[in-house]
Amino acid sequence: MYSRDTKVMGNIMQEGVLWQSVLGEIELSISRASYVTWFKNTQMIRNKNGIVVVGVPNVFIKQQLERKFNDLIVDTLKKNGIDSIKVEYKIVSLDKNKTRSEDIMILNENQPTKQKNSGSSLSHKYRQGLNEKYTFDNFIVGAGNELAYAACQAIVANPGKKYNPLFLYGGVGIGKTHLIQAVGNSVLNKNPDARVVYASTEQFVQEFVDALRFKKNTDFAGFYRGADVLIVDDVQFLAGKEKIQEEFFHTFNALHQANKQIIISSDKPPREIPTLEERLRSRFVWGMSIDMQNPDFETRCAIIQTKASGHGLELSPQVVEYLANYVQTNIRELEGALNQLLAFCEMRELEPSLEVTSSLLGSGKARPKHISPKQVIEKTAKYFQITIEDIIGPKRDKDIVVPRQIAMYILRSELHLSFPKIARELGRKDHTTAIHSIDKIEKESILNNSIKLAISKIKERLYV
Ligand code: ADP
Ligand code: MG
Repeated sequence: MYSRDTKVMGNIMQEGVLWQSVLGEIELSISRASYVTWFKNTQMIRNKNGIVVVGVPNVFIKQQLERKFNDLIVDTLKKNGIDSIKVEYKIVSLDKNKTRSEDIMILNENQPTKQKNSGSSLSHKYRQGLNEKYTFDNFIVGAGNELAYAACQAIVANPGKKYNPLFLYGGVGIGKTHLIQAVGNSVLNKNPDARVVYASTEQFVQEFVDALRFKKNTDFAGFYRGADVLIVDDVQFLAGKEKIQEEFFHTFNALHQANKQIIISSDKPPREIPTLEERLRSRFVWGMSIDMQNPDFETRCAIIQTKASGHGLELSPQVVEYLANYVQTNIRELEGALNQLLAFCEMRELEPSLEVTSSLLGSGKARPKHISPKQVIEKTAKYFQITIEDIIGPKRDKDIVVPRQIAMYILRSELHLSFPKIARELGRKDHTTAIHSIDKIEKESILNNSIKLAISKIKERLYV
């Protein structure tokens, strides 16, 4: 489709233009947040003999493009005249002069952004309570937080204009604090003079109490009412504190009337916060309230990969999936599990393999509750290619007894069932059988590789 003259042009040039056109179309067909997260920093590296190579900045974007967006990319290439046989994704390092957080800010608004003012914003008295580690850059967007992310980005582009107040709510450890802190940091990066205040509700309460006690009420009120962006985390803690609710109400009104941005987070929606004054409740829903949902499996995988590569480590897909199944809702716990694994491996100079991961995390701690004894027995029987009747029945052949003992062991180590209950599940009358079996497998699993492997494979199948 190219003329001779065009062919003379450098290939890179052609590929750049072509890719821009592909990106332009993709941008229109998916959400803004997805586009920014997954496509913004991609480039076309090669287009030859039906193979298109796309450069991506990191492994999780690579996987996401492969798994979720490959069809879209192939189709869009086709529309642009490239009938590629295959698209390959390759990790390449980004242009070092361009940091991603700056990119995001530029994307938000087509206005010139201020250069980062080295450190000066840090000392500003209004840079209160913000932790620089929380950025948009290291926040993974996926189903569950996409909407909240987009709203927060819109606020950075135009504080006080669009979603005011923004009320984010959702369970523990799903990224509320991270996201609202990222707004504060990003606003300050753009405008180091902005008066951004981040306060936990507990802090707000404490300062209010102190102000009353030391009769410095005016300072307290003035400080909060002087903010351009006020971020108050965990407002469920206002429940039952009437005096403070009243103070908060006035602060809210003053800021809102002056078109200053207010961002609030809570672990539940306003209507479910007990003993919250009606007038405050109604204010909270004036702007936009967004329910942050638990991260889905792919988002959890992406978070694990990013955090692991932050530690300079690339985990195998099996380990990533194991972790993503191990913790399903709380990202703080997910990070905890990952850190535990990394520390364990570092101390023992081990590779974080699936075996290591499952034996470390599979022991001790409370496990997700959704696994039933029946599933354990089923998966064990299936692994050894015997029937459930065999495993719970009377047969005493070795190739049935060992699987039975392993099933008992897993019921104990994973589900923490009592010995009598374990015995009953496997059709045994005497609970000492369970005690002996579990003890035996526990010992053998250290020396006998095939038993060790069986346990880890069965567990893997239970959790995936
Ligand atoms: P919440 O305030 O909702 O209880 P946090 O914002 O404190 O949760 O998040 C808990 C931890 O998980 C933090 O370390 C945060 O950085 C991390 N986290 C949460 N969501 C994400 C995400 N989407 N991408 C990367 N890290 C996340
Ligand atoms: Mg929080």
